[in-house]
Amino acid sequence: MRNLVLMACAITLAIGTAPAIVLAAGSGCPTEPGWSYSDNTGPDFWGTLFPVLCGLGVRQSPIDIVTSNTVLTKLPDLVFHYNVADVVTLDHNDQTLINDGEGNYITIGKTEYLLYNIHAHTPSEHTINGKRFPLELHFVHKSEAGQIAVVAVLVEAGKPDDGIIEGPSESHPSTVEFNLVDLIPQDHRRFSYDGSLTTPGEDPTTIGCPEVALWTVMKNPIQMSSDQIQEFENSGIACWGTKDTARPVQPINNRFILVSPQCSNQ
Ligand SMILES: [Zn+2]
Repeated sequence: MRNLVLMACAITLAIGTAPAIVLAAGSGCPTEPGWSYSDNTGPDFWGTLFPVLCGLGVRQSPIDIVTSNTVLTKLPDLVFHYNVADVVTLDHNDQTLINDGEGNYITIGKTEYLLYNIHAHTPSEHTINGKRFPLELHFVHKSEAGQIAVVAVLVEAGKPDDGIIEGPSESHPSTVEFNLVDLIPQDHRRFSYDGSLTTPGEDPTTIGCPEVALWTVMKNPIQMSSDQIQEFENSGIACWGTKDTARPVQPINNRFILVSPQCSNQ
């Protein structure tokens, strides 16, 4: 049984040695997104502005994860193949930090998902037992079949994170340099649930808040210094005019929140 638990917790970080440069074309803030994070186009109005599915959906994100209601289970193995160090361009488009995975991918079970977008929300969108964190990073991946898998990493204030080699600035676009591996918690326990994208999206003519995402929320946060967190807040202000870029938590409805078992080796 102990071995089973250890296997269930096995997550591997594949770390390469050759840095690569990734440059994404910056396109600036969305020109006419039809939504924002404040006033009468803010999150409280998305359900009216984009009823399908921001208002009428039943598997919306983010959520408050109540740990006493989670289901302990063996989740498929999650392996991070974040094997390049990245220089990326922050274009402030939906807080986007990277638009091209360039070989970074994860596997969940046997399915491979290519990283194609990293972005940030301040404060965190997901909460754990009602606790909100100052920052949440979203690593958005897509499989060849078009399935979307988002890995959410919560960030608390503390020691500086070595993965932030150069943080975002307020310029349009700004260059940032991350070591992606350092942005993933060393403790790999995680929550998993089916949900939606947490914005109406860049194209108002398509379905908003589509319920297409397999969510992985890492159970334990990473730490960044207050200055590093503030850089992400400032990048939100540069685009949206507010550092509050988090959608409020949504009803869980009939969903199960799965959690991987406690690892005796962690
Ligand atoms: Zn997001």
